[in-house]
Amino acid sequence: MMNVVVWNENRHEKTNSAVSAIYPTGIHGAIAEFLQEEDIQVKTATLDEKDHGLTDDVLSETDVLVWWGHVAHDEVKDEVVEKVQQRVLDGMGLIVLHSGHFSKVFKKLMGTSCDLKWREAGEKERIWVVDPTHAITEGLGEYIELEQEEMYGEHFDIPTPDELVFVSWFEGGEVFRSGATFKRGRGKIFYFRPGHETYPTYYNKGVQRIIKNAVNWANTSNTPRHVYGNAQALEKITEK
Ligand code: ZN
Repeated sequence: MMNVVVWNENRHEKTNSAVSAIYPTGIHGAIAEFLQEEDIQVKTATLDEKDHGLTDDVLSETDVLVWWGHVAHDEVKDEVVEKVQQRVLDGMGLIVLHSGHFSKVFKKLMGTSCDLKWREAGEKERIWVVDPTHAITEGLGEYIELEQEEMYGEHFDIPTPDELVFVSWFEGGEVFRSGATFKRGRGKIFYFRPGHETYPTYYNKGVQRIIKNAVNWANTSNTPRHVYGNAQALEKITEK
């Protein structure tokens, strides 16, 4: 059974009653709840726990980590960021959501500023599938719509994605690469844009389908593990 950890800084939920009204068990609680509908083992971890809930034992057992952060990126300890990066290179999947674009973990793995345009005006967002062959789009139609979201606009300063899966259109006119995949070492990374804390985005069935699909896509626990360095020949060779 796959092990997923949903990580959330869990700060807006403590300081903003509008957010805790939408997410009474936290954003992590809402995401964990729909992931539990799948055949996976789900745990949660939050910033204020020891080692942010990401101890060596937890990380070593995690197949896919889901990350939501916003106001407290700086409070995430560099040593934990380093360990998460190493686990991704070693094969742990990583799903980075919404304002996680500015997390230390994502920026370290991307190597760019990960900056973008933004606006909070409760705009409609239409998220178009631009790669209908991709496993992350399974079960979706051509697009999904969110009645109200924060706008993120291009240019999004990320490396050219390995695969572009979704592009968002916003009521105010901007577009955004809202679903993008990257490979780093043995690890698979999916960035997925929606999820501003004051909107009920993680209750949207399309958003839930995408995150479920992404977690399954990012799990590499059964893929081959290569040995690096000096290698014995597999066939008899004549040394010249
Ligand atoms: Zn936001």
